[in-house]
Amino acid sequence: MEKKTEQYDVVIIGGGAAGLTAGIYCGRARLKTLIIEKSLMGGLATYTNEIENYPGFPDGSSGLELMELFHKQAKKFNVNFKMTDVKSVDFTSEVKVVETFRVRYEAKAVIVTSGGKPRLTNAKGEAEFLYDKGISFCATCDAAANTDKEIMVIGSGDAAIEEGIFLTKFAKKVHVSVMHDTGKMDCNEIAKADAMQNPKMSFIWNTVVEEFNGNGHLDTVVLRNLKTNELIPVPVDTCFIFIGYLPNTEIFKDVLPMTKAGYLVTNEKMETSIPGVFAAGDVRDKFLKQVATAVGDGAIAGYAAEKYIAESEMFEMQILNHGRPSLAYVYNAIDATSRAYLSVIEGFEHEHPDIKVSRIDVYKSDGLARRLGVSKLPSLVYINNNKIIRKIDDINDLSIQQIVE
Ligand SMILES: Cc1cc2nc3c(=O)[nH]c(=O)nc-3n(C[C@H](O)[C@H](O)[C@H](O)COP(=O)(O)OP(=O)(O)OC[C@H]3O[C@@H](n4cnc5c(N)ncnc54)[C@H](O)[C@@H]3O)c2cc1C
Repeated sequence: MEKKTEQYDVVIIGGGAAGLTAGIYCGRARLKTLIIEKSLMGGLATYTNEIENYPGFPDGSSGLELMELFHKQAKKFNVNFKMTDVKSVDFTSEVKVVETFRVRYEAKAVIVTSGGKPRLTNAKGEAEFLYDKGISFCATCDAAANTDKEIMVIGSGDAAIEEGIFLTKFAKKVHVSVMHDTGKMDCNEIAKADAMQNPKMSFIWNTVVEEFNGNGHLDTVVLRNLKTNELIPVPVDTCFIFIGYLPNTEIFKDVLPMTKAGYLVTNEKMETSIPGVFAAGDVRDKFLKQVATAVGDGAIAGYAAEKYIAESEMFEMQILNHGRPSLAYVYNAIDATSRAYLSVIEGFEHEHPDIKVSRIDVYKSDGLARRLGVSKLPSLVYINNNKIIRKIDDINDLSIQQIVE
């Protein structure tokens, strides 16, 4: 079946906090923008019962409500949305290609915001009970169904303990399996103190999951004590696993640079090593993975993508000048020597009306300087027939006149 092709300025892969924020920036910059989301618009945050640390919401907000606001704001700026799974990408040429089952999307820039997925314990029987069969990763989704039941939480990080506390509002008992010694947890101190005082929470220290058991539906989690090897069967209705996340980067293997753990590597402008491809949010290698930082990343990536597209257009139209002669003066506006030559460049422009002259301030357009291969400032680059003919970084009045001779 021949795939349909659609063109966009920017395609964003993933509709979580990072993707929606990048979409708001791109949409507001009047770029034709598409967000592709494979499961739930709003991403991981929608699974979170209460977000108390996102600024601007002093009374907290449910993850779902917060993400609905992000989505609404992106829609306001005419961002397009498609609910489907990105199967593959091709970033080898200037036009970036993102493919879903039915459509081939072509874009000037792509922003990867594919986030992460829950890490599994890999214990025996786990695959048999995932999701609706007793193993859950979402307290918000499954809390009510566990009213007056006994449940287990695996993990002791912020997510495990905060979601565990939330689950005590519904469940009769919340058993928490912690792999560390008694009293040691990975979560923040406030959550730890609250959890330790909560009469519905009981901690099983030094344990990991050995096996999940049940008949069609989970009924027992067998824990193993790491010190004594004792096996501890705990009857539960649901087991919530919160032991971290793995990045959704399978489709970017051998395409984008990533860490050993599979997180995408970017610089502070969210640029990957491929011009025009950006990554933002939990999918990239970074210190703190939260909604607030996903938003910051998304804003930078959206802005950087807009700048990249503007620079690409300027490079094509003005600097390559449709194959006709063109002179680029690459300078730094805050440097006196750089500024001194601006009047000479102006004189040159009057004398050579057949040559298109561009002044490129690296502070505003360092991407153009990179495209022209300029590292020393100020520099002059003479281009003709879409090729760099001459480059001079040791400028004087004479060299400006001579560059086109
Ligand atoms: C239980 C829990 C509690 C949390 N509590 C808090 C909290 O209190 N405060 C806080 O600030 N943060 C919290 N976080 C972290 C926060 O949810 C994340 O940091 C944030 O959601 C990251 O946003 P993101 O856009 O980078 O990624 P995600 O939200 O993971 O979004 C990525 C999206 O990309 C989609 N996607 C992936 N691959 C593809 C593909 N191939 N094609 C199409 N779509 C794709 C996914 O379906 C997903 O929707 C919590 C997380 C969890 C799990």
